Amino acid sequence: MNVLLTGGLGFIGGHTAISLSRIGHSVYIYDSLINSDKTSIEILNQICDNEIFCQIGDILDTKSLTRFIESNKIDTVIHFAALKSPFESISNPSIYFNNNISGTISLIRAMENNKINSLIFSSSASVYGPPEYNPMDEKHPENPINPYGKSKLLSEKILKDLAKFQDWKIIILRYFNPIGAHKSRIFGEFANEKSNNLLPYLYRVAKGDFEFLSIYGNNFDTGDGTGIRDYIDVMDVADGHIKSLEYMFNNDNYKKDNASIFNLGTGTGVSVLEMIELFEQVTGIEIKYKFEDRRQGDVGICIADPSKAMEYLNWKSKITTEESINNGWNFFKNNC
Ligand code: NAD
Ligand code: UDP
Repeated sequence: MNVLLTGGLGFIGGHTAISLSRIGHSVYIYDSLINSDKTSIEILNQICDNEIFCQIGDILDTKSLTRFIESNKIDTVIHFAALKSPFESISNPSIYFNNNISGTISLIRAMENNKINSLIFSSSASVYGPPEYNPMDEKHPENPINPYGKSKLLSEKILKDLAKFQDWKIIILRYFNPIGAHKSRIFGEFANEKSNNLLPYLYRVAKGDFEFLSIYGNNFDTGDGTGIRDYIDVMDVADGHIKSLEYMFNNDNYKKDNASIFNLGTGTGVSVLEMIELFEQVTGIEIKYKFEDRRQGDVGICIADPSKAMEYLNWKSKITTEESINNGWNFFKNNC
């Protein structure tokens, strides 16, 4: 199929491009470079045997996107393009709502202009908000606490209505904490000063950019007091999209209304201190840390129940946290 990846030069989109290309799909990327770099096009083409096509453009530009879909005879879309920092979204809500919600609406209009109606959407565990129970399944109440999470939930609702009232095929994937990198060591997460996730920060400490890792909170109700998350390898996340495409197009059980949302996580949690210990074991590099206050809105534990993805998509995570750390670090130390 000819698959359009909005935001396909980013961390998850780029890895999904590699996986799609490997199994013979033609990949077309549309990306504004707001959080990526043009050099990623060459890198992806170095890794992939089949050429990956890319146009630089903003999904808010419906006309240009319509033309791109038309001229490349796109069959289906995976929609990664979004701004993704919960913390930045608190100080810039309108920018997040415009890019993430208006961007999704613009994409829908460009697809309607071309009469294509199937889409896989990158959503997030942040739509659940503070966990009422762990692991969280897809029936967990939705109560996002920042504009980023709200922008994802509202986009989900718009897409669900297209499936309900307009016969669209929609699959929503709620990622937990993607980490790792492609084993080639040349494509991964190009972390910048805006990256405030744990792993990019840990890598920067290991590389000597910072003396200490700040651990935000040591009094959560977790075994060692530090926050627990469900870290999932990015190539496993990429595989979740492959399995979703197969389910959407080749499986008679696909029911657009009731089976369209899936968590992508491992089902197990790792604390910040455990992550530091694993990193030290894998790399042999000692990480110094100090405890600081909790970040605003941070929760103690956030773990996926991924059993629905196993049941419907035949998907589960395969890559160990150690392997993810190894691939992520090998990429980071050579490229960032
Ligand atoms: P990323 O920032 O690395 O990639 C997003 C890409 O989209 C970037 O290349 C950026 O330039 C592009 N983009 C953003 N707005 C655009 C626009 N208006 N027009 C065209 N391109 C645009 O992020 P990622 O980690 O690869 O995340 C991909 C998707 O997954 C996002 O929707 C994000 O919200 C979601 N997600 C990410 C995580 C995570 O921790 N990485 C977790 C849950 C969900
Ligand atoms: N964290 C930390 N120091 C950092 C970045 C993150 O202690 O520099 C902690 C954070 O408090 C949380 C976990 O690491 O418990 C994962 O944070 P991340 O921002 O990567 O993911 P999220 O909190 O959005 O799930």
